[in-house]
Amino acid sequence: MPGVGPSGGGVVSQENIDVDLESLLRRLHLPTIRRLLPSYCEQAAAEGWTHRDFLGRLVAEEVANRNNTRIQKAARRARFPSLKTIEEFDFTYQTSLKRQKLGPYLDPDFVGQGRNLILVGPSGTGKTHLCCAIGYKAIQYGHDARFVRACDLIDELASAGKQGRLREATTGYVEPHVLIIDEVGYLHHADSAANVLYGLVDARHQQRRPMLFTTNKTAAQWGDVLHDHQLAEAILDRVLERGSLIELRGRSYRTKHHREKEAES
Ligand code: ADP
Ligand code: MG
Repeated sequence: MPGVGPSGGGVVSQENIDVDLESLLRRLHLPTIRRLLPSYCEQAAAEGWTHRDFLGRLVAEEVANRNNTRIQKAARRARFPSLKTIEEFDFTYQTSLKRQKLGPYLDPDFVGQGRNLILVGPSGTGKTHLCCAIGYKAIQYGHDARFVRACDLIDELASAGKQGRLREATTGYVEPHVLIIDEVGYLHHADSAANVLYGLVDARHQQRRPMLFTTNKTAAQWGDVLHDHQLAEAILDRVLERGSLIELRGRSYRTKHHREKEAES
């Protein structure tokens, strides 16, 4: 009967198997399979792959490529200042932090658990690098992330507030699975800093969405930095309920080469 395949499941006529595979693969948006098909056909024939093996390998390549593309797009959307990975971080230089301590943040369950982190310490100790690396790892596990400097975030939310658009502007920062707020307290923040930040932190806390902060100020100084001690406490309370504060110490990695040169001479 036309339209029924050998196992009774197919709808393509067996008399007409000369299909235009190229265009069918294009229609199905399978560019990797389309690209690899000729060489895989040759290899399959030469090495005697089973039909299942042949199809399995092609589909696996398509899925792997699709995942890589998603990771690249998500990393661009995250707006990291530069792409940093945990593998690039030298824990033998930054000895005040053990890699195990970051284990829960590099775990596939990190986003589901809604963990938060505050990295505090002087300049060049790797705070931004580590937060970006955690964000990138989350992206590799299928989530999305967003990096923003505290001063830009607060300015944006404060001016949205003045225009009566605070809720809308805040939503854009509640949506990403992981939010990195870099350099809290580096520059002078607007008078409404605590207000606008509290709204965001509270919304993310309610949705159990991870927040990563870097700062050079101790928790006790956040009240001054954000111009409101009670709200700063409420912010820290929510962040630390499911999170930790890790202090990084040591000398700046940025000027490491100067010291190495001095040691040589
Ligand atoms: P911070 O945010 O604490 O000021 P960064 O994370 O921006 O410091 O680090 C400054 C530079 O030094 C970045 O290029 C970062 O990748 C690098 N860096 C810092 N610490 C380390 C480390 N332990 N291993 C590798 N690179 C590091
Ligand atoms: Mg930094």
